[in-house]
Amino acid sequence: MTRTLSLPVLAHPSRLHAPAVPPEKKEKCAVFGVWGHPHAARISYLGLYAQQHRGQESAGIAVSNGKVISAQTGMGLVAEVFSDRVLYELDSLGGKGAIGHNRYSTAGGSVACNAQPLLESYIRGQVAVAHNGNLINSDALRRHFEEAGHLFHTTSDTEVIIHLLATPQQQKAPDPLAATLRRLQGAFSLVFLFADRIEAVRDPWGWRPLVLGKIENGTDKPYWVVASETVALDVCGATYVREVEPGEIVTINDAGISSRHFAHPAEQPAHCVFEHVYFANPASIVFGQNVQSVREMLGETLAKEAGVPADYVMPMPDSGRSAASGYARASGIPYREGIVPNRYVGRTFIKPTQTERQAAVRLKLNVIAEIVKGKRIVVVDDSIVRGTTTKAKMDQLRQAGAKEIHLRISCPPIKHPCYFGVDFAERSQLIAHGRSVEDIRKYLGVDTLHYLSLEGLLSCVNRPAGHYCTACYSGEYRLDPTHPSTEVIIEDEQMRMFA
Ligand code: SF4
Repeated sequence: MTRTLSLPVLAHPSRLHAPAVPPEKKEKCAVFGVWGHPHAARISYLGLYAQQHRGQESAGIAVSNGKVISAQTGMGLVAEVFSDRVLYELDSLGGKGAIGHNRYSTAGGSVACNAQPLLESYIRGQVAVAHNGNLINSDALRRHFEEAGHLFHTTSDTEVIIHLLATPQQQKAPDPLAATLRRLQGAFSLVFLFADRIEAVRDPWGWRPLVLGKIENGTDKPYWVVASETVALDVCGATYVREVEPGEIVTINDAGISSRHFAHPAEQPAHCVFEHVYFANPASIVFGQNVQSVREMLGETLAKEAGVPADYVMPMPDSGRSAASGYARASGIPYREGIVPNRYVGRTFIKPTQTERQAAVRLKLNVIAEIVKGKRIVVVDDSIVRGTTTKAKMDQLRQAGAKEIHLRISCPPIKHPCYFGVDFAERSQLIAHGRSVEDIRKYLGVDTLHYLSLEGLLSCVNRPAGHYCTACYSGEYRLDPTHPSTEVIIEDEQMRMFA
């Protein structure tokens, strides 16, 4: 029998390590894993480095030598956590396999104890886990375990997975890991490292990407690699094989690779469409489609929906570049960069007051007055969340002498929070929540404002429209975050097993 748990309350992350200009939207995390490679730790380092855009708060690598798992985690960027010496020591452990993680918190605070992979010991030995996504029933699970006397080391939603795995109830199941995964609700692309294997898992809805690749080594046993994005495969010389399927567990060990399902794929998948709009690296293939190509199509569609006479199409760096190039191509208006990012405004440039934060926004992006003065400009960006950064930029453009500003956004208005692995502002802080496009246009002080329609957005992706999550735009959540569903949970005997 499956158990229904009481109503979860999503943890609100504390921000103990926040940058001066906090990003308006935070990705949750990258995962990586490789088995059999003699330099598994170094390969993981490369895989994490290539996926740094998915999380910059902490990084970690866990390595198994076939008997013992060791882990190194820390706050900061991959290159900050792993100095040459640390990486050398980790690699010298003689790793058989390794997993890694870049983190940006959406549940649990940005503190060192929450850095992943989480490494724990239980009745069957050691296990390390790295998680991309967000569980909507983790608070209820955690409360259940705490009432039973369990001690937690972190405030992360991921730790409940290990507690679940260790319970006698799951351990008595024919497949303890599958039984554990069937108790989880929400978004989870997970990579587990056991002493003798990696298990890569994707939730039945396929919210977050997870791909499989292989590094050829001249034998009939290639090194298998798993990663959030295909850019991580590229950087370590692996070729893309396929996505891990929704509801699938892929096992990688000395024997090679095998697959089984812990749940049937959801009838209606929920691939996060925002991965294409903003998160993923343009070079990646996400949900079977190249991200740069999708973003250019979004810009082209935007130009068709809301063309306007102008002198230049100008991207908001760096997020608007791909869509702006598509807009320029479709409209025939010259593409020109007039807003320049200052790459040396650091992530730790902490400023406590609003005035100082506004100054930091100005420092981060400079407007080139010689280019914008007296011109009609179409500015293209990927999204507006709170609107404060966008407002500062529009003011700067106006002060620099722009004659007309036509703002084009390559996705619909974000009106609702995300419970599945993206840290937008709370509903009350979203500029589009409860406000019309005209209200927002006036606030931003632009001549015209157009958001890409939801139909336009979905016309640019190659799977059926119903296969994507669009809840932050539409408010239609595939899973009710306040009432975890049990409908996709299936019993052990129904589990499809694959050799
Ligand atoms: S709510 Fe938005 S950001 Fe969150 S998973 Fe759905 S599409 Fe992605």
